[in-house]
Amino acid sequence: MSLFRPEIDRIAGYVPGEQPQDSGWTKLNTNENPYPPSPHVVEAIVEAARGKLNMYPDPLGTRFRKAAANVLGFDPDWILPGNGSDEVLTILTRSFAGSTDQIAYPYPSYILYETLSDLQGARHERLLLEPDWSWDFDKISPQIERSKLIFVPNPNSPSGNRWTWDDLLTLTPPHGILVLDEAYGDFCDTPHRGELLNSSVGRQVVVTRTFSKSYSLAGIRFGFALAHPDLIAGMRKMKDSYNCDSLSLAAATAAIEDQDWMLQNTARIRSTRQRLTTALTALGFHVVPSQTNFVWATHPTGQHKTQYEALKAKKILVRYMSFPDVAWAPDQKLEGLRITIGTDPEIDALLMALREIV
Ligand SMILES: *Cc1c(COP(=O)(O)O)cnc(C)c1O
Repeated sequence: MSLFRPEIDRIAGYVPGEQPQDSGWTKLNTNENPYPPSPHVVEAIVEAARGKLNMYPDPLGTRFRKAAANVLGFDPDWILPGNGSDEVLTILTRSFAGSTDQIAYPYPSYILYETLSDLQGARHERLLLEPDWSWDFDKISPQIERSKLIFVPNPNSPSGNRWTWDDLLTLTPPHGILVLDEAYGDFCDTPHRGELLNSSVGRQVVVTRTFSKSYSLAGIRFGFALAHPDLIAGMRKMKDSYNCDSLSLAAATAAIEDQDWMLQNTARIRSTRQRLTTALTALGFHVVPSQTNFVWATHPTGQHKTQYEALKAKKILVRYMSFPDVAWAPDQKLEGLRITIGTDPEIDALLMALREIV
């Protein structure tokens, strides 16, 4: 007999990418930034650690919100800090979706949205993407209409493409909230500026951002929501009082204040992305043009699992993903490799290995 809520017993739970704890791996599987964070971040953490660790942190993260407001061009009361953007997604689910409400999200996409809906006990629906990772709105518009909460990663994972302005307007549910998960927004050729928040649907939009990718801080759990102050005020009631600790608040504040550092690293990653895309294409892969710090590569031989395993044997980790329930082409299940953009030497090692394997 299980004493858990049925929602918990029913699901398998979210499985994050492999995080080997021994050394020697070229890790290209969970979209971390290969470059270190700004040196000011470490200074800020040390300073915070030498400070008042016996006191609770600022529950509202005021210093961080002021620093972020300066960079983003929105007032501090538009910002809600979180313990990673995954926590912000949890706060959103708990704030907006009850058991009779419907949550929707594109498929294939970030699987955590489905896990969060199931944990919440809400109804959920997948918005099936087309084989070129576009939307067929005639097909999905009834689903959009009946949704209370729609999660859309922009750019998408695992495909790496970015949606258009018109797509986003059409995806906004008439009686609900559109969450734009901009985990990879800083890697776009023209970065996001929260434009949709100032549009006619702005009061129904929440943008989420993470420090795990562009700011090189996956080891410090920090992300935030950007939305109209009325939405932020409601979400504040849902969050833990002290959801961000003093060290992560200090780290994130220093990181967002050093825009040059982040912009330099994202520019380097974009240029390596271009090189990797060209080289994979030369090896016969089909690569979706990426606006993120990873690429989605598929090979006509369909040998993705074998390729993943052969790379792993050489201590190079990429993400093998398969979506057996997507029938885009007859007799061919959707699968592929999602490869994080590492440093240039890491990508050279990957390409050398793939030339032997493919
Ligand atoms: C990495 C990622 C996140 C998680 O960010 P954290 O701040 O590390 O929790 C959220 N959404 C998407 C689409 C991601 O790829």
